[in-house]
Amino acid sequence: MTKFVYAFEEGDGKNKMLLGGKGANLCEMTQIGLNVPPGFTITTEACLAYLERNELPKGLMDEVLQNMKALEAKTGKQFGGVDNPLLVSVRSGSAMSMPGMMDTILNLGLNKTALQGLIKLTDNPRFGYDAWRRFIQLFGKIALGIDDHHFDEAMNAMKRRVGATQDIDLKAEHLAELADQFTRIVEEHTGQPFPEDPYKQLEIAIGAVFRSWNGKRAVDYRKQFKITKEMANGTAVNVCTMVFGNMGNDSGTGVGFTRNPATGENVIYGEYLVNAQGEDVVAGIRTPKPIAEMERDMPEIYRQLMELRNRLESHYKEVQDFEFTIERGRLYCLQTRNGKMNAQAMVRTSVEMFKEGLISKERALLRVDPAMLEQLLVPQLSPNFKGKPLATGLPASPGAASGKIVFDADTAEARGLKGEKIILVRVETKPEDIHGFFQAQGILTARGGKTSHAAVVARGMGKPCVSGCEAIHIDDVRKCATIGDTTLHEGDVITIDGGNGNVYAGEVPTVRAEFTEDMSTLLKWADQVARLKVMANADTPEDALRAREYGAMGIGLCRTERMFNATDRLPIVQEMILAETSEDRQAAIDRLLPIQRTDFKAIFKAMKGLPVTVRLMDPPLHEFLPTAAQLELEIAHLHHLRDAIKSLEELPETLKLLSPKLHQQYADGLNKLSGSLEDFKDSHLEEDIIFKKEKTLKKVRALSEVNPMLGHRGVRLGITYPELYSMQIQAILEAAALCAKEGIEVYPEIMVPQVATVEELHRIHENVKRIHKVVELTHGINVNYKFGSMLEVVRACLRAGRMAEMAQFFSFGTNDLTQATFSFSREDAENKFLPGYIESGILQDNPFEVLDQKGVGELMKLAVKLGRETNPELKVGICGEHGGHPGSIHFCHSIGLTYVSCSGPRVPIARLAAAQAALVDAGGKVTTTA
Ligand code: PEP
Ligand code: MG
Repeated sequence: MTKFVYAFEEGDGKNKMLLGGKGANLCEMTQIGLNVPPGFTITTEACLAYLERNELPKGLMDEVLQNMKALEAKTGKQFGGVDNPLLVSVRSGSAMSMPGMMDTILNLGLNKTALQGLIKLTDNPRFGYDAWRRFIQLFGKIALGIDDHHFDEAMNAMKRRVGATQDIDLKAEHLAELADQFTRIVEEHTGQPFPEDPYKQLEIAIGAVFRSWNGKRAVDYRKQFKITKEMANGTAVNVCTMVFGNMGNDSGTGVGFTRNPATGENVIYGEYLVNAQGEDVVAGIRTPKPIAEMERDMPEIYRQLMELRNRLESHYKEVQDFEFTIERGRLYCLQTRNGKMNAQAMVRTSVEMFKEGLISKERALLRVDPAMLEQLLVPQLSPNFKGKPLATGLPASPGAASGKIVFDADTAEARGLKGEKIILVRVETKPEDIHGFFQAQGILTARGGKTSHAAVVARGMGKPCVSGCEAIHIDDVRKCATIGDTTLHEGDVITIDGGNGNVYAGEVPTVRAEFTEDMSTLLKWADQVARLKVMANADTPEDALRAREYGAMGIGLCRTERMFNATDRLPIVQEMILAETSEDRQAAIDRLLPIQRTDFKAIFKAMKGLPVTVRLMDPPLHEFLPTAAQLELEIAHLHHLRDAIKSLEELPETLKLLSPKLHQQYADGLNKLSGSLEDFKDSHLEEDIIFKKEKTLKKVRALSEVNPMLGHRGVRLGITYPELYSMQIQAILEAAALCAKEGIEVYPEIMVPQVATVEELHRIHENVKRIHKVVELTHGINVNYKFGSMLEVVRACLRAGRMAEMAQFFSFGTNDLTQATFSFSREDAENKFLPGYIESGILQDNPFEVLDQKGVGELMKLAVKLGRETNPELKVGICGEHGGHPGSIHFCHSIGLTYVSCSGPRVPIARLAAAQAALVDAGGKVTTTA
């Protein structure tokens, strides 16, 4: 028979799929000798069996019973007993951490009998009744599905009646009365008395926790974070002896990080509350104290805590996020897991833990999720900004964000989805607010510490968060908030700075973040390990310089047409397109030549010593002209103007007819007007413009294509109008020659877009060779260059073997190649059916973001193989957007690409992903090159 239950002493601490992360950890913690309250774990297999049949699997409760008996023996307490009652917590926990997304029940086992035992034992009636009312509420809400507000209303009414401001001000008799009210609420809503039998309670609770796996919060969370069945399937249930942090002033509870999760600094970090239960800290009901204060207030406990911290780190070799409870002077560790940290902290701890000898360099590189590095590029408030904050809360998650205030998660979701920038402002957040977080730029809460729900979730998402901002008073009903004399309404813009906790009215300017020294160190290690080179897509000298700062090892794609769009060039480009004769066209191209040459020279200079791949012009020509609709509108306006002028000409005579007196009165003005109109007519200004616009319109109509993206563009254009490509090739080679003359080391590469046939590439290659000779003769320099082809047309991939006879390099244009492979137009797909395809599981990801390895990837593999059969030295890269996506980078590594090229800000991400690909490939062990 399947074994469903494992005591903490016997469970395999590595088997998270079976025992859940929390359960496996409790087993491991117990087995390494940490002071964990005794307990056992019910497996995820039991959960799946339950969800399938909607009943607990056969034999499960027998195993639970046996384990409860063992717990009674270990603790010397009795479940439901009167003398020394055993109370347990019943917690969820799946293989992947899903903080707060599933349910937990505390104090289970309490009933009227056990309650009296507890009170007698602790000699603390207040504590007993408090535990009892907490249990009824939690059990009522989670196991019996009764809405929280029924209990909250009773609690608030009680507080008002007795004049208590905080829960802690309520006395034992108030709590006893409250517990009676709570049991009545349960009875009213379920039609049955509150279950007194602790085993019945346990059975109901286990089922409820299992069901929470399919609760809305958990399902949404798994969808958002793409947690598949292979990663986590079902939740385990951990039944653990309760220890109490609310047994007096020598008791307490808290959460800690072995290092600061916001900065990575190697100091214990966390918060605790004296005489309180765990959920008080997490829910932000009371604002807790920093752990540093414990050293003074509870020195012996602090010593135990430091010992626990050192043990956790030296065993797990990872920053730990742990929960602890102090019961009458004794410290218990309730759970530990790898700490979720922001990127800055991940990077810093990687570098420091390596230097401390705690982890290897490989581990230091592998433990940082490359996508997280984006957070390090999060905007910060402009340093010149000297404004006064409206209020200051706790700096809970760094980065600065501005947005419109929204007071509830649903509105935040709705307005965020419409593209508005939102700051979610709440008294405190709860797990059910998660959908609002996804759409918000930042989160501001009035209550709760740096480990409150809002802080933890925002940090995980890399969103700015200010928590515990007690100066802000929120009125959810009237949808407004006051800070001192300022009243803020929904829709008002505020700015929060999660780095220092400041809140400002209005939008504050932000600046890009800077690279830290730790980031540079880590990325240097990454470069030593990676086999793939990381290039940048950059079109201007400024982009190139920025990409270099990010560590780009060259430019993998310079889209020359982007230079044509600058305001000083566009008219010349338009002249070139509109030219009627080849002389006129050549005249425009001749004016473009020096401009392009200057651009290329500046880019080569910025990238000195590194390769720069310049792509010849790619888009269809109509992209440089206005649209037909726009031109038609302008022409119509001009015709109206002409009619208006005619009417004005007739004005004096008409006025004379209507009223000679009036005509007399305005005679002077009318004469002046007639004179000006004569001049205007003589200038033929409007006629000239109408003529030009009509000419352009004719050209636009002539250039119009049914499918421009599959039409006259790329190399096809270069073959029809060879002057254009010749000019670009000359500009590239001359710029390189001029740089060489100045002693600047340059490595130009000329790349041809949209190639489909070998002959196309051959024609351009011949032209390049011819111009190269001319440049050599005119400049006296034999420019060293490479010639290559984009592979973005399916046929080109299939003909890669022949292409490689001329091309010294290939670069996969996976944007176009994805469109071509799927026969999807990207814009139409993304606007119309792709979201539905992903939602319904036809596609797992958007193939324009995540490389489609099974389709596009197969073509790439084939092209690499064919190309390298012809030329084993062939350099092959990727310059579509996938070049900056970590998963796609792993694939590029696995098929033997030479480089990836991506936008500048993604270069750090790609460098780390390239290193991880090499490490994973080598099974975590690689030899560094430096
Ligand atoms: C590509 O198609 O992947 C590519 C890089 O070219 P573009 O995006 O300019 O079409
Ligand atoms: Mg392309």
